[in-house]
Amino acid sequence: MRIALFGPPGAGKGTQAERLVKEHDLTHISTGDLLRAAMKNETEVGKKAKEYVTAGDLVPDEIVRELAEDAIAEHGYDDYVLDGYPRTVRQAEWLTSFLDEHDAPLDAVILIEVADEQIVERLSRRRVHKETGENYHLDHRPPPPDVHESLVIQREDDRPEAVRKRLEVYHDETSPVIDYYRGNDAFFEIDGVGNFETVFGRIEAVLEEATPAQVTDANMAY
Ligand code: AMP
Repeated sequence: MRIALFGPPGAGKGTQAERLVKEHDLTHISTGDLLRAAMKNETEVGKKAKEYVTAGDLVPDEIVRELAEDAIAEHGYDDYVLDGYPRTVRQAEWLTSFLDEHDAPLDAVILIEVADEQIVERLSRRRVHKETGENYHLDHRPPPPDVHESLVIQREDDRPEAVRKRLEVYHDETSPVIDYYRGNDAFFEIDGVGNFETVFGRIEAVLEEATPAQVTDANMAY
C-alpha cells in the first residue's frame, strides 16, 4: 500500500502515520524527519535546510525531492506512508512521474483537515522528545513521568512566529496541491478534528474504499 498523508502543520499527520505503520506494516517516510536528522548530523543537506526549517519556510524543492525519492527507492517503491511530501505542485508533479516510471503510483492521498485556530493551539502545546522525536501535547498527550523534563523540548518551528509563517506557507504553496489531486479517485478528505482514535478510524475507512494504483499521470485531471 502506498499512501500520502496531506494537511496543514499540526494536523496529526506524523502520529497518524506512525499508527498506519504499525497497523499495516508500512515504512514512515517523513521529509520533515529526514531534514531534522540531516540537520542534527550536520550533513550538507542539513546545513542547506536549516535556515528554511527554522524560519518555517519550505526547503527548496530539489533538496526534498532527492530525500523523498531516495527514501521511496530504498524501501522498494512500496508499503510506505509519505508524510509531509509533496508540499508544492512541482513536488507533486515530480512525484507522480517518478512513481509512474516505477509503475508504483499512490493508492491514496488523504487530506487531514484542521482549521487554523486549532492548529495554532495544538502547535503551541506540542512538545517533542529530544532523542526519539516522539510527539506530545501538554494537555492531551503529556510526556510520561519517566521521561525527564530536560528531554522534552519545543520544536523551534513550533514557536508562534514560525507557526504563523508555516500556516501562511501552507495556504500559499501547499494548498494548490489539493487542487492538483482533487478529482482523482484516490484523493480523500477527512475531518482531522476529534480524538486520535476517531481520526484514525476515518483514515481506515478511506483506505478500505481506496482501490490500488490510481494516481497516475494518465488520469490526472489537468
Ligand atoms: P514537518 O515536520 O513535516 O512539519 O516539516 C518541518 C519543516 O521541514 C517544514 O516546515 C519545512 O521547512 C521542511 N519540509 C518538510 N517537508 C518539506 C517539503 N516537502 N518541502 C519543503 N520543505 C519541507
